[in-house]
Amino acid sequence: MLKAAGVGIIAAILVFLLWNGVDVWPVMLILGLLLALTYTGAWSKLSQGRRKRQVVLGTESHTTFNDIGGQSTAKNELKEALEFVRHPERIRDMGIRPLKGILLTGPPGTGKTMLAKAAAEYTDSAFLAASGSEFVEMYAGVGAQRVRQLFVEARQLARRQGQTSAIIFIDEIEVMAGKRGQHHSHLEYDQTLNQLLVEMDGMGTAENLRVLVMAATNRGDLLDPALLRPGRFDRQVRVDLPDREGRLSILQLHTRNKPLALDAELGRVAQETFGFSGAHLESVCNEAAIMALRDCATAISQKHLMDAIDKVLLGEKLDRTLRAGELYRVAVHEGGHALIAELVNPGSVSSVTISPRGMALGFVRQAPQDDRLIQTISELTADIQVCLAGSAAERLVLGERSTGAANDFEKAWEIARRMVLSGLSSLGVVQEEALSPESLYQTIQGIISEQQAEVDRLIDSHVEQLRGVASHLMETETMAGDMIRALISA
Ligand code: ATP
Repeated sequence: MLKAAGVGIIAAILVFLLWNGVDVWPVMLILGLLLALTYTGAWSKLSQGRRKRQVVLGTESHTTFNDIGGQSTAKNELKEALEFVRHPERIRDMGIRPLKGILLTGPPGTGKTMLAKAAAEYTDSAFLAASGSEFVEMYAGVGAQRVRQLFVEARQLARRQGQTSAIIFIDEIEVMAGKRGQHHSHLEYDQTLNQLLVEMDGMGTAENLRVLVMAATNRGDLLDPALLRPGRFDRQVRVDLPDREGRLSILQLHTRNKPLALDAELGRVAQETFGFSGAHLESVCNEAAIMALRDCATAISQKHLMDAIDKVLLGEKLDRTLRAGELYRVAVHEGGHALIAELVNPGSVSSVTISPRGMALGFVRQAPQDDRLIQTISELTADIQVCLAGSAAERLVLGERSTGAANDFEKAWEIARRMVLSGLSSLGVVQEEALSPESLYQTIQGIISEQQAEVDRLIDSHVEQLRGVASHLMETETMAGDMIRALISA
């Protein structure tokens, strides 16, 4: 409607000018060009570029270091580095070169973005966030232009907010700052990275407005070495998965606004969530609250928290109904895993379930008593035995095995491979490159067969207990570790 009116008005003006003898051809040429741009979509692409730049800019929320659970080493290292921004005069008096970049490396969801926001709050800096992928464009020069613009906007934002420093946070930096010359459209990638290096080189002490670049990556190994040389990102802070204490403090942070029932034990949840990141733990707390709401409960109980761990680990419960025979096979299979887990590592089973979730038809949850950073030969062989136990149980109780164990075998193989490459096999200390594929294969096969024989022997001597666990699972679908232990020791 509006378009039609506009075209009508322009046509009327053109006719009027023509009537009065004005030369309208140049105007018509420009109008034609604009029309063609609109028609081919090129105009919308250009304006999208502008709009995208605006999306890139995220301004700060008030996250402080106290909102971040665990990560005490990372926090301390970071605070120390930030003294450069907080007390520039001291740095200047000592003739110290100012810090230009801090690189946060570590697995996803461990709080790198939160640390950058907290750094801005700690140093009273303007905060601008961008993601590496938003600088990558097909068109040469666009990425470099965005980098330039980002630094300009950081300074403008700080001035507008009356601050003397700005922190630019670039997430997924490996996307824009990977090793140069390795991409198909390498010219564009290289220009973008070069521009970032130029901007970082241009940040000096003399400036009365300091800009600090913080970047995060899960793949530090992919970064261009030029970025890591002194004078650029010369501080690297490792942000690891939280240990048990870290997990507990993250859980406490994310439940501080939620009602917890008296039986809720966050310490146990922390113990059962080895390998979870802060983002996983936040999700556990959130899911537990949703489950409590669904149950019309007024507070989150321990059961909600444990169910939430399973949900975050495996996915939502499925309505998939198995045939009775299949269900019994799953019960025997999971019973086998649980039985061997308890025999080789007493007290380790936390729960067993045969209700399908995500990709799994059943699941045994084992809680490590302590976070394990290194493993001994006996711990590794025990893990292999637990993996092999599901299929062995099926064969001994039901007469034949099924495809349900493919994933278990993969895991067992991987553990055995790790043993060989760590020098824990009959081959002794080995070098991976010098090891022939056959000899690697045979050694792994040897480890697996040896453990398989041991698992068969153990299940054979506990087959009645295994049948007991399987029948119980058929009735209750889920069993707690204590119940399993009671049945096994009966
Ligand atoms: P990615 O590498 O995927 O970008 P990230 O390391 O930047 O992830 P964040 O975005 O900082 O992770 O964290 C995601 C969410 O996880 C946060 O919003 C927060 O809810 C939670 N979280 C992660 N780590 C912590 C932590 N140490 N303390 C409290 N909450 C955390």
